Amino acid sequence: MNAAQRPHSPVYGMDVLRLPLLGRALRRRHGRLGLQIVFAAVALALVIDGLVGPQSAARNLATVAPWVHLRGFVVLVLLLAGNLICMGCPFTLARSLAKRLSAGGRRFPQRLRNKWLAIIILFALFFAYEYFDLWASPWLTAWLIIAYFVASFLMEAIFAESAFCKYICPLGSFNMVYSALSPTQIAVKSPDVCAACVGHECVNGSYAAQTVIRVDEILSGADDKPRSKEIVHGPAGALGCGTELFAPQIRSNLDCTMCLDCVRACPHDNVSLFARAPGAELSRPDSWPRRWDISLLAIALAFMGVSNAFGMAPPYYSLQEWLALNLGVKSEFIVLLLIFGTANLLLPFVASVAAAWLGARVAGFSKRDSIRDTVAAFAPAFVPLGFGIWFAHYSFHLLVGPGLIVPVLQEFLGGVGDWQAWSFSLDSNAIGLIQLTALIGGFLWSLRAAQRKALRLYRRKALLGLLPWALLFLLLMLLAWQIFTLPMEMRGTLELFG
Ligand code: SF4
Ligand code: SF4
Repeated sequence: MNAAQRPHSPVYGMDVLRLPLLGRALRRRHGRLGLQIVFAAVALALVIDGLVGPQSAARNLATVAPWVHLRGFVVLVLLLAGNLICMGCPFTLARSLAKRLSAGGRRFPQRLRNKWLAIIILFALFFAYEYFDLWASPWLTAWLIIAYFVASFLMEAIFAESAFCKYICPLGSFNMVYSALSPTQIAVKSPDVCAACVGHECVNGSYAAQTVIRVDEILSGADDKPRSKEIVHGPAGALGCGTELFAPQIRSNLDCTMCLDCVRACPHDNVSLFARAPGAELSRPDSWPRRWDISLLAIALAFMGVSNAFGMAPPYYSLQEWLALNLGVKSEFIVLLLIFGTANLLLPFVASVAAAWLGARVAGFSKRDSIRDTVAAFAPAFVPLGFGIWFAHYSFHLLVGPGLIVPVLQEFLGGVGDWQAWSFSLDSNAIGLIQLTALIGGFLWSLRAAQRKALRLYRRKALLGLLPWALLFLLLMLLAWQIFTLPMEMRGTLELFG
């Protein structure tokens, strides 16, 4: 098969960027700018309303949009289309400005080039969300958005790469983990063309202060023979991958912001966005690196989904009182730190290490693989269940008041909010059914992914090796379901429905 006959990747399906209109729009030099400008305008509106609008959570854009609607929208888009949220992220506009103003930047410190910082920042965000009741404060939410813009600006001004997206941004970390389920992925069309490529522009970029012309010998044409091709680098060149992914080596959506810079930078039109089976990377052996930080990020996010919902349910307040009475801990800060530290950091680590040790032991492979490698093999299987938990939680908030954004917007624009017409809610049984479907669907999907890993690792003893993981998934799902059946705080909508 020659290069001209290879319109699709041998591994992946339809080339999304070949679709009429959409494909063309995305491939354009400023293809994502339109989406970013829309998101930036929304962020600006939230900041304005948060700082000067009514300080009632249910009547302010800064609280209703991000804490009720955006989160539900994010999980849906991730599942159906991929990481469009990072693609349209308005914070990268501040980064691009910083890039132009900065003198070049330095490398992000080697010790921090991992996901430990992302885990800590996610933990801090969920902690702050509870401790400061962010969902109830338009003013604090507005300042959180401002802090995001400032942090991304400073990070890009100081460091040479997209360190903010890759190592810091909690929303990006969430999106990058859960885009493992999405039906699209960046991949190359022909690995042979990459093998002959000299400049690796997909990662290095084609930007240069002055025009430089290079001639490469590259496979092209209907006969798939090497031909000379003029490659131009110059001031109009494209940036390479900000998160430093090398297109021919991409095996997953991890660290991909779907910015499509690699597509625009490749001089051989050899990289694109392809359709794939949703969750295709979950059971492939080589899709995620075998690293503690990456594994624990995916596992901890599933546990954080449970604890985040738990923070809204009555037993959380009973636990607070119990800790105060029995341990004498009066400070809410310490109590929350104890509960979240245990649920979000300690438990994911202990439970996954125990499952890895037990699974390998009962399957008779405890001496072959390290605990780290076993945890890394099963960590991607936590993604569907974790997603199901988050989906069940966020869809609850969204479906309790899906139309509320309209009167809030009407009031923000100076009109009279038609609260009566838009204060409807989906039937609570229907919401419960959606939540249950998300939890069971996530659980079964996780089980399937883990089963494939167990088969690969333990062959005929796969069922034994799978058991501890299956039990862990089941416990997490039942715990989440138990929490969702409790009366939950209707954050952001309380004043209207309560
Ligand atoms: S994707 Fe393009 S720029 Fe990157 S290595 Fe392949 S041919 Fe070269
Ligand atoms: S440049 Fe990097 S982050 Fe952007 S789409 Fe390509 S691989 Fe993903």
